[in-house]
Amino acid sequence: MCSLRFRILGSYFTIIAVVLILVNTTPVMTTQRLIVESKSNELLKTANMVSSTLAGLGSLDSERVESVMSILDVSGDVRVLVTDYRGAVLYDNSRELPVRGKTLMLSEVFSALSGNDSFRSTYTDGAFESIAAVPVMYKGEILGTVCFFDVDAGTAGLLLGIQDYLRTITLIVLLVCIVMMILFSAMFSRRMQKLSGAIKMIREGQYEHRLVIDGHDEITALAEEFNDLSGRLQKTETLRRRFVSDASHELKTPLASVKLLADSIIQTPDMPMSDVQEFLHDISDEIARLTRITDHLLQLTRLDVELADHAREYLDLSDIARRAVRLSQPLAAERGITLQADTAPECIVEAAEDPLYQVIFNLVENAIKYNVDCGSVHVLTYKSEGNVYCLVDDTGVGVPEAELSRIFERFYRVDKARSRETGGTGLGLSIVKQTVEEYGGKVWAENRRPQGTRFVVCLPYRGAEVGLES
Ligand code: ADP
Repeated sequence: MCSLRFRILGSYFTIIAVVLILVNTTPVMTTQRLIVESKSNELLKTANMVSSTLAGLGSLDSERVESVMSILDVSGDVRVLVTDYRGAVLYDNSRELPVRGKTLMLSEVFSALSGNDSFRSTYTDGAFESIAAVPVMYKGEILGTVCFFDVDAGTAGLLLGIQDYLRTITLIVLLVCIVMMILFSAMFSRRMQKLSGAIKMIREGQYEHRLVIDGHDEITALAEEFNDLSGRLQKTETLRRRFVSDASHELKTPLASVKLLADSIIQTPDMPMSDVQEFLHDISDEIARLTRITDHLLQLTRLDVELADHAREYLDLSDIARRAVRLSQPLAAERGITLQADTAPECIVEAAEDPLYQVIFNLVENAIKYNVDCGSVHVLTYKSEGNVYCLVDDTGVGVPEAELSRIFERFYRVDKARSRETGGTGLGLSIVKQTVEEYGGKVWAENRRPQGTRFVVCLPYRGAEVGLES
């Protein structure tokens, strides 16, 4: 596996190398081209000037060329040669290695002998070596050629100086870039390693682990997201563990009772029939309780899927409240409890009918279950500030202030014995809360004076969606 760090290093290095190569070559090549152009202009111009003077002679021979050249006095370091129409040298201003009488076998000379100006310049061994050759023409006839040879070490030295200067700068830039790249990539890979280490810890179940990454960049944002995610995972894991332990505890108690009762019957062969009947009755009660718990548990676990499955529609919460009150009347009547509904019109909410009915029914049922004999339950619906409210008030035993929010937790019961007596499972309010929140609402409980509890369901008002005023 090629590490990310080396990939970053590699790509940065390639980019920097390309930029530096361009910086090093482009100016040198451009300068070189400009020098050659200026040399070509200069040498061809002077050669043409000499050529037109020589053309005035009509024909070329050594003495006459010599005398004209001495008058022209082409000074400087330029070597000047004049050839006849065959390329044989008639004049050479070099004192060191004169080639007078020899034939110049150069392509430039051949080109000049065929009537064209010719120029070539090469940059070798720290000098520009240039040749310019032009024909000497008289009345359309080629009399010979004028050749200029120039070896320019001065300008080439200047170019070498520029090249050296650029090389030094390149070296410094390269070193600085390499050091920065190494530092940056080390820092980057250290932060990435921290991140992947943290992910590994979460994978191993250490949900309490949090990342601390300095800076204000994408990796810091990623670390924050990671911390948020691990926080949620930790919360979910805690809830899951508590749920599993609570659920097993809740199931264990009735199961133990069933086992005890059944064992008693088995171990007492001559138990009177009336006792057997009583024990079987208790066993049946415990099984009913187990069934209720498992039903509620299934309802809770399926709620996510089922709520998504139920088609949502625009419903009047007041209709649902009135129905829940009507169907709870027999239960209330058994204990002499007065149950009454007071509903406002057009309390439109968006929900599925069955789950929403279950919410209100659960609250009304609790208000009856945890009430005093001959108490009262009052259900009120109204809309206010973009919300629809349903209040379920009772005159019952109430809930200690500190436990008002806890009663919505799974299996939480204020008075276990009473809840058991009334057949409670401690799951009803969890179902209520989960359903209401699914529909974008809230539910909470308050204590009433002098006694009793108020449960409040608040859902967003959706009247505008069905053409009612908002
Ligand atoms: P249960 O099946 O025990 O009724 P719930 O989730 O419906 O479970 O309620 C949780 C607990 O909240 C109950 O055990 C009870 O202690 C308390 N509670 C619920 N409703 C009321 C109420 N109207 N008055 C007093 N206590 C209540």
